[in-house]
Amino acid sequence: MTDAVAFCEANSIPFKTDLSAKTFSTFKIGGIAPLVVYPTDTEQVSILLKYFNANNLRYKTVGNCSNVLFSDNMLDCILIKTDLLSFLNVENEHIVSGSGNFLSKLASAALKNHLSGMEKLFGIPGSVGGAVIMNAGAFGAEMSQIVEQTEYVDAKGNIHIVKGEEHCFGYRKSCFTESDVVTKTTLKLIPGIYRNIREEMNAVKTKRVSTQPLDMPSAGSVFKRPDGHFAGKLIEDCGLKGFSVGGAQVSTKHAGFIVNTGNATAADVKELINLIQSEVFDKFGLMLETEIRII
Ligand SMILES: Cc1cc2nc3c(=O)[nH]c(=O)nc-3n(C[C@H](O)[C@H](O)[C@H](O)COP(=O)(O)OP(=O)(O)OC[C@H]3O[C@@H](n4cnc5c(N)ncnc54)[C@H](O)[C@@H]3O)c2cc1C
Repeated sequence: MTDAVAFCEANSIPFKTDLSAKTFSTFKIGGIAPLVVYPTDTEQVSILLKYFNANNLRYKTVGNCSNVLFSDNMLDCILIKTDLLSFLNVENEHIVSGSGNFLSKLASAALKNHLSGMEKLFGIPGSVGGAVIMNAGAFGAEMSQIVEQTEYVDAKGNIHIVKGEEHCFGYRKSCFTESDVVTKTTLKLIPGIYRNIREEMNAVKTKRVSTQPLDMPSAGSVFKRPDGHFAGKLIEDCGLKGFSVGGAQVSTKHAGFIVNTGNATAADVKELINLIQSEVFDKFGLMLETEIRII
C-alpha cells in the first residue's frame, strides 16, 4: 500500500488513507478503507489501472456509495472514488458528464436548459457512474432510456466507448464488468417546457419524501423487484416491518428498505437480509435477490 501511495503522489493523483467507510456510505456502515484514490480525469484512471494491474492490486470503484454495503472489517482493496470526475457540459439536447457527478446535479442542469427525460430520476442519491452501472430507475423511468454513450477504462487501463444497445441494460444491470471503471456518460434528452419539468421534479420529490425513510441512513431498496411482485409488500406481508437485528431495522415506512438505527454493523444487515429471504421464501416460495452490492 505504501508503494501505491507513493505512486499517487508521483502522479499527482489525489488520495486519502485510512478512511472509515462509515463517513462516505449512505448506510453509515463499514470498516477502514486503507487507501481511497480520487482520479480527476480519464487519463488518471487509466494510469492507476495500469499500475494496479502490473502490481496485482485489488480495487473497487464506487460513486456515492448509496447502493453498497461495506464489510465491517478493514477493506481488502483500494477504492477508486469518482467524486472528482465531475466534468459537466450541456450541448444542445445532450448532457456530457463525468461519472462522479450526482444524478440530481444533471437533473438540475437539464431543468435549467429546458430538457426533459430526467424528471423521474430526480432524487436518486447516486452518481452518474453508479446509475449507469445499476441502470438506476424510478417511477417507470430508467437510465437506459436516456444514456447515449459511455466511456470506461478496462482493468488493463485501455479506454473504450460503448453506445446505445451495447450497454446491454436490463433491470438494475448493464454490460460492465466488476473491473471496468465508468468515466464519462452522454445523455440524450428532449426539449421540454421548464414549468412542466420543474413540476414533475417537485412531484417526484414529494413522493419520495412521503414513501421513503430519507431521514435515516440506508442504501435504498435492498432487494430487486421479483417479477409480478413488490419486495416491500412481500416483506410487509411476512410481518417483518419494523423487525430489527442489532441496529439494522426493516424500515417502518417502506419495508423494502433496511435502515441503520444508529449502530448497525454490516453483520447485522447481512443477518437481517438472510432472515428476510428465508421468511419470504417460506411464505411465498420466492427467493429475493439483493440489489445492493456487498463490498
Ligand atoms: C434513499 C435512497 C433511495 C434510492 N432510490 C433509488 C431509486 O429510486 N432507484 C434506484 O435505481 N436506486 C435507488 N437507490 C440506490 C442508489 O442510489 C442507486 O443504485 C445509484 O445509482 C447508485 O449510485 P452510486 O454512485 O451511489 O453507486 P455506488 O453505491 O457507489 O456503487 C453501486 C455499484 O456501482 C459500481 N460503481 C459505481 N460507480 C462506478 C463507476 N464509475 N465505474 C464502475 N463501477 C461503478 C460499484 O462498484 C457498485 O457495484 C436509492 C438509494 C438510497 C440511499
